[in-house]
Amino acid sequence: MSLTHDDTHPATTDERIAARVKAMEAILVEKGLIGTDAIDYMSSVYENQVGPQLGAQVTARAWTDPDFKIRLLADATGACREMGVGGLQGEEMLVKENTEDVHNIVVCTLCSCYPWPVLGLPPNWYKYPAYRARAVRDPRGVMAEFGFEPPDTVEIRVWDSSAELRYWVLPRRPAGTDDFTEEQLAALVTRDSLIGVTAALSPAAV
Ligand code: FE
Repeated sequence: MSLTHDDTHPATTDERIAARVKAMEAILVEKGLIGTDAIDYMSSVYENQVGPQLGAQVTARAWTDPDFKIRLLADATGACREMGVGGLQGEEMLVKENTEDVHNIVVCTLCSCYPWPVLGLPPNWYKYPAYRARAVRDPRGVMAEFGFEPPDTVEIRVWDSSAELRYWVLPRRPAGTDDFTEEQLAALVTRDSLIGVTAALSPAAV
């Protein structure tokens, strides 16, 4: 069972959502409630300005500043705010730290709750029933599909996000990065590693 497709109706789900969005957009524009330029602007903000790069910057800070990391794990929303990161769909966030012994993975079993200010918009597979069910039932199988296989000795913890509380993962700092700057470290942090389906990239991979 592949996670990159909705197993029941791969194309039709996307098409249905796209059609619904277009219809809502048309009504809002027709009633003069919103201009098409405003809609384009909002999409562009989430595509280009808000996205996993903000989560990557926060992660790199946590890797290099132990006090910041403590604050991030205690109050992710507050710590992100220190860096000017926050807003809609990220009012209450919790960060779970990966260690040598524990690996965390995030899902929303009910729908697709996701920390927008830190990660941008969720990837399609995050919303599909296949991911939402299998992340809980078979998290190691899911990770293997992303090419990530933590050792058997590592405990896997699955966190179920909701509209009230959105989780994301603090990946482990890759080996061989002792002399890296925050900017270099941030380049190793991927969206998928912040969801927990993979680890951060190793320096050799970039
Ligand atoms: Fe949800």
